[in-house]
Amino acid sequence: MKPHILVVEDETALVTLLRYNLEREGFRVTESTDGEDAVIQAVEDVPDLILLDWMLPQLSGIEVCRQLRRKTETRAVPIIMLTARGEESDRIRGLDCGADDYITKPFSIAELVARVRTVLRRARPALQEEILRYSDIVMDLASHRVSRAERPIHLGPTEFRLLRYFMEHPGRVFSREQLLDAAWGRDVYVEPRTVDVHIRRLRKVLNGEGELDVIRTVRAAGYALDQPQSGDMARAAS
Ligand code: CA
Repeated sequence: MKPHILVVEDETALVTLLRYNLEREGFRVTESTDGEDAVIQAVEDVPDLILLDWMLPQLSGIEVCRQLRRKTETRAVPIIMLTARGEESDRIRGLDCGADDYITKPFSIAELVARVRTVLRRARPALQEEILRYSDIVMDLASHRVSRAERPIHLGPTEFRLLRYFMEHPGRVFSREQLLDAAWGRDVYVEPRTVDVHIRRLRKVLNGEGELDVIRTVRAAGYALDQPQSGDMARAAS
C-alpha cells in the first residue's frame, strides 16, 4: 500500500508539481484547494500525512490544522505546514496549532520529500517497509524482489546493488567510481569500465519493450536514475 498524502494548496501550479514528484516517489496523492473541503476530505479518506498550505481560501491552514486535531479520525495524522518566507513562518511557529513540521516556500522538492519521509517514519513506522519505488519500478529489499510495471525483473547481485543505490538517490548523477564504491565496496579493485558492463545488463533487464530508459548516461560524468522531463519539473520548484 502506497502512503497517502493529502496536498492542501490553492496554487494549482504548486499542486501539480507536488503531485508529480510525490507520485514519482511512490506516494498516493489526493488534493484539495480550500480549507473547508480539506477537512471534509481528510475525514472521509484519512491520509497518512497532510501537506497543508497556510494561506488558503475559506479556512486558513492554521484553522484547518486545529479542526483536524479536534476530530477523532484525523487527530493523529501528521501535518506539515507550508508557509511563505518571512513573518508568516515565525507567526505560525508561535501559534501552536499542532502541526508536526513546517516548510518555508520556496523549498526544493528533495527537501520536501525528505521531510515527508522523516515525519512519516516518526508517525507510522509500519509504513517504512523496505520498499523502494521509482516511476513504475518497485524494489522490495527484504525479499529481493524487483518489478517494473508489475513485471518481475531478475537481477544479478551487482545489478541489484546498483539499482538499489540509484533508487535511493533518484535524479543524482554518479561517477563510475562512486558506483563502484556503492555496489562493489571500497576495498575491491574493479576497472571503472566494468560499471558500464553492469549498467548495460541492468538496462537490458529493466527496460522492456516500449518502456522508457530510466537510466540516463551523462557524458563525461556517469549515470543517473532519471527521466527526461523530471529535471525540468524539479527546477521549476525552486
Ligand atoms: Ca496559498
